[in-house]
Amino acid sequence: MKAARRVTVIGAGIVGASCALWLQRGGHRVTLLDGNPPGRGTSRGNACSIAVHGCIPVNRPNLPLQLPKLLFGAHRPLSISPLYAARRAGWLLKFLSHCRAREVAKSGAALAALLSRARDGLAPLLAEAGCADLLRDRGCLYLYASERDYRAGAADLARRRALGVRCAELDADAVRELEPALAMRFARGVLFEDAQQVANPQKLTESLVEKFRRDGGGWRGQNARAVLPGGSGVETVLDGGGVIESDLAVVAAGAFSTRIRGVGRLPLATERGYHVEFDNRGELARRPLHWVGSGFYASPTDAGLRLAGTVEIASLSAPPNPAVPAYLARMAKKMFGIKEAPQRDWLGFRPTFPDALPVIGESKRAPGVLLAFGHQHLGLTLAGITGRLIAQLASGAAPEVDLAPYSPARFGAR
Ligand SMILES: Cc1cc2nc3c(=O)[nH]c(=O)nc-3n(C[C@H](O)[C@H](O)[C@H](O)COP(=O)(O)OP(=O)(O)OC[C@H]3O[C@@H](n4cnc5c(N)ncnc54)[C@H](O)[C@@H]3O)c2cc1C
Repeated sequence: MKAARRVTVIGAGIVGASCALWLQRGGHRVTLLDGNPPGRGTSRGNACSIAVHGCIPVNRPNLPLQLPKLLFGAHRPLSISPLYAARRAGWLLKFLSHCRAREVAKSGAALAALLSRARDGLAPLLAEAGCADLLRDRGCLYLYASERDYRAGAADLARRRALGVRCAELDADAVRELEPALAMRFARGVLFEDAQQVANPQKLTESLVEKFRRDGGGWRGQNARAVLPGGSGVETVLDGGGVIESDLAVVAAGAFSTRIRGVGRLPLATERGYHVEFDNRGELARRPLHWVGSGFYASPTDAGLRLAGTVEIASLSAPPNPAVPAYLARMAKKMFGIKEAPQRDWLGFRPTFPDALPVIGESKRAPGVLLAFGHQHLGLTLAGITGRLIAQLASGAAPEVDLAPYSPARFGAR
């Protein structure tokens, strides 16, 4: 075991906050930095699901067949910007190459290894931070509008089961009993009993950072510009001036991570996603509901009902597309009979690698720089276990999971 080390954690989303707390628990002296207040990025607006069943990536075998519709149609659940596709053709081709059954099986197994530890990675942090009440244990319900949709989903369900996911198959009456406020009749449902839900993801990250700071963790309200080798470890160069010297730096800046100089040229892109929120409508769903094929979850939050999801492959700087929140509002009417307009909408940036796996490990290019980003649709779910693995690496302990599938080296030396 290595002695206590000075560690700088870059990015105070749910992943950075979890890394900071696990490192602090491991006895390290940690400084967390972010130019924004904690938990205001993608970690704020997600679908609130601790989706331990989420071992099937978006890029799966049937996706290439839909490509023309995704590029040139008005398909709202999943779309690809033609401009972005032209600019990042290499990334898109890699993303599509991971639709092959063999690759899907490989990524699925690697995701499942993390997902099986997801609850254990988060629960101790919430308990210590005094916010365990944010977590609800009512599972997550997938809904199928027709028998045909249900049969089309059978292969995915079999894959999940083969990877150890527990679930119960429900008929239309059982769905109605679980979710009596649905305005629509769903032919079938699948309940993932081990999934959990967070009532307020922003509050979760804030609570973890508050706990970290109460226990003496350092905070800097500045962004990192670069991570460079320096002295006996790493120098983190700050936007607006200043340098933090430490033994290790952890980069956890979500979709913005590769903008930090020194991180290296890794094939990170973003799957943009949206939400709309209806205040005081939380009673319409008892747990996160995913209408399979619609691309979104409807989740009850402590403020109301949030419809969150969709995938838009486009750049970080492209303006929001108002057609997507409008689509979500239409779906709210169909699914729950909500006639009013949502009170607000939001756009967030899932950090995504072509193989749908995060990077968790030391940078090949910059010794002493640990990378913890690229959690795509699962960052809320996987933040806790990622933090625990990063703390194990920092302490020189053998990681509890074989980290080879998540190594930055899988993309070659960059
Ligand atoms: C619509 C939608 C629904 C989703 N639903 C779910 C779900 O139900 N379950 C689930 O598990 N996941 C879900 N996700 C995915 C999940 O939200 C993300 O994977 C997760 O929030 C990523 O967390 P993060 O900490 O890596 O990034 P972020 O939350 O984006 O945090 C990154 C932080 O880094 C900071 N930063 C950026 N640049 C710098 C810099 N140079 N220096 C310092 N700080 C910097 C930012 O200000 C930000 O605070 C969803 C995502 C979307 C968009």
